[in-house]
Amino acid sequence: MLWSQTFLPTLKETPADAEIVSHQLLLRAGLVRKLTGGLYTFLPMGLRVLRKIERIIRQEMDRAGGVELLMPALQPIDIWQASGRYETASGVLFKVRDSARKDWVLGPTHEEVITSLAANELNSYRQLPKNFYQIQTKFRDEIRPRFGLMRAKEFLMKDAYSFDATDAGAMASYQRMYDAYNRIFARCGLQAFPVEADTGVIGGNHSHEFMVPAETGENDVVYCESGKYAANIEKAVSRGSVEATPAESTGAAPERFATPGVVTIEALAAAPYGVSARHQIKTLVLIADSKPMLVLMRGDDSLNEAKLLAKTGAVQVRPATPDEIVALLGARPGSLGAVAATLKTAVPVLADEALRGGRGMTTGANEDGFHLRHVDIDRDLKVGAWHDLRTVKVGEACVETGQPLKIRRAIEVGHVFKLGTKYSEKLNATFLAEDGSRHPAVMGCYGIGVTRTLQAVIEQCHDKDGIRWPVSVAPFAVCLTPLVVTPGSQPMTLALDLQARLEAAGIETILDDRDERPGVKFKDSELVGFPLRVNLGEKSLAKGEIELKPRGGTMRMVPIAEAAAEVIAWVRAESERLGAA
Ligand code: ATP
Ligand code: MG
Repeated sequence: MLWSQTFLPTLKETPADAEIVSHQLLLRAGLVRKLTGGLYTFLPMGLRVLRKIERIIRQEMDRAGGVELLMPALQPIDIWQASGRYETASGVLFKVRDSARKDWVLGPTHEEVITSLAANELNSYRQLPKNFYQIQTKFRDEIRPRFGLMRAKEFLMKDAYSFDATDAGAMASYQRMYDAYNRIFARCGLQAFPVEADTGVIGGNHSHEFMVPAETGENDVVYCESGKYAANIEKAVSRGSVEATPAESTGAAPERFATPGVVTIEALAAAPYGVSARHQIKTLVLIADSKPMLVLMRGDDSLNEAKLLAKTGAVQVRPATPDEIVALLGARPGSLGAVAATLKTAVPVLADEALRGGRGMTTGANEDGFHLRHVDIDRDLKVGAWHDLRTVKVGEACVETGQPLKIRRAIEVGHVFKLGTKYSEKLNATFLAEDGSRHPAVMGCYGIGVTRTLQAVIEQCHDKDGIRWPVSVAPFAVCLTPLVVTPGSQPMTLALDLQARLEAAGIETILDDRDERPGVKFKDSELVGFPLRVNLGEKSLAKGEIELKPRGGTMRMVPIAEAAAEVIAWVRAESERLGAA
């Protein structure tokens, strides 16, 4: 490819509306252009990278036994109603209406479509297991599309769905995808690691997200340096999550005491009260899917909303308004409590595991300006359900090793999930077993954000000069840079000759034939991030040499006659380092 022939508009200035470095580089390196928030056009260089990532994904999916198909992006709403997600996912669903005033959905994901296919096509245990995948455009009505391709309204996803006859089979399918994902990200040159993820109401421990550590990520990952534990904060536990507050009961009955103006945990912890946060019960009034509930947390803990949703199966939860609280409990926030004797309502009470067995606690008296002390949870509270609902904090002991946990930000690039029979039951994807009985197929689903992965590579592989593409996904492995571009000149002639030889060896090259100063060409090539630049200048050619400059590495001179072999060897070694196909 000649630079002048393609379309590679680099930018010197950092675009003002790009907040994170990978987004800035996407634009500056001429990979994409924004149409409007959350919608991007892929320019030739961006598209080349995208195709390479897709190719790696396809190879690894095929190797893991996946079979590719392609489903429609436009979907009828009846399957969404049947799965129950027309309601529960309505926040992200793009709905469109046709001329006959019928509503449709632009697919944010394809469980409904694939399960409908399976319902019609997979009827016997002999056809199982099957793992279907596609690479396709998804639509999500993200409220705040941002960070370029990271959170877009339209993006490319690889989604796969496995159908098994048995639970053990489904676990094997899950493991194959888990292993394939590790290989895919490694081959893309990405350091991504699997963490335990929220499984929502489906429960179980069979969901992992693949995370790329990055300050700009939107996820918090809790991990132990031993490598034995890593989980999304939405799911993470520590030893502190299961250990109850130590008993400190005086045996006394709950005692009401005046706390005028005290409405926070901190105020009750301060003089003259001095009740440590750990010995307070925080009472939250929440409205989950329009039903009120009380959620009790230890005073020094914070509620993890994802855990609450997962444990209750609620779709949405919000704090009750002050008016709703007064109507329900007869007191304002700051004096609330769940001591049975002070509760005038039959609202469900959920409590965090860390409170279990707590004694000598202090909580609100459901009377403005008053609290209760000497509260023993088992004796004085009527807890309807105990769950792990707290958010793990830095430094708490790892459940596996006891070592202090750390937390870091990360980008979710992939997700594997054992679904069980949730969708196959709802959409009737059953099969006949060998003994003639009929069962719903056991499913798994597996997603990779292809466009997000592309940007995550940039987020991880860049320096002050621009992108540093791993050779496996670089738009071109080699940038040939003749410093004189006049047709027939020695640098240009040699560059064209070298290009022909490299292309013949299967190495993709771009030849910078622009009549620009060397500094401009070098800067652009570094910004776009080609892994190897080959400089052909009159001075070094006169000495019989060509310069090889790996991106981010040191320059090396090689004899003209050996240049092609040297470049081929360099590219092959880099490819192998990343684990070629
Ligand atoms: P997030 O929590 O970031 O919103 P998700 O958990 O809803 O993502 P999944 O349904 O698991 O996403 O989708 C599979 C993959 O698709 C994700 O791991 C991510 O890489 C990618 N993805 C999801 N939403 C977007 C988006 N709005 N823009 C780009 N990629 C996305
Ligand atoms: Mg996810």
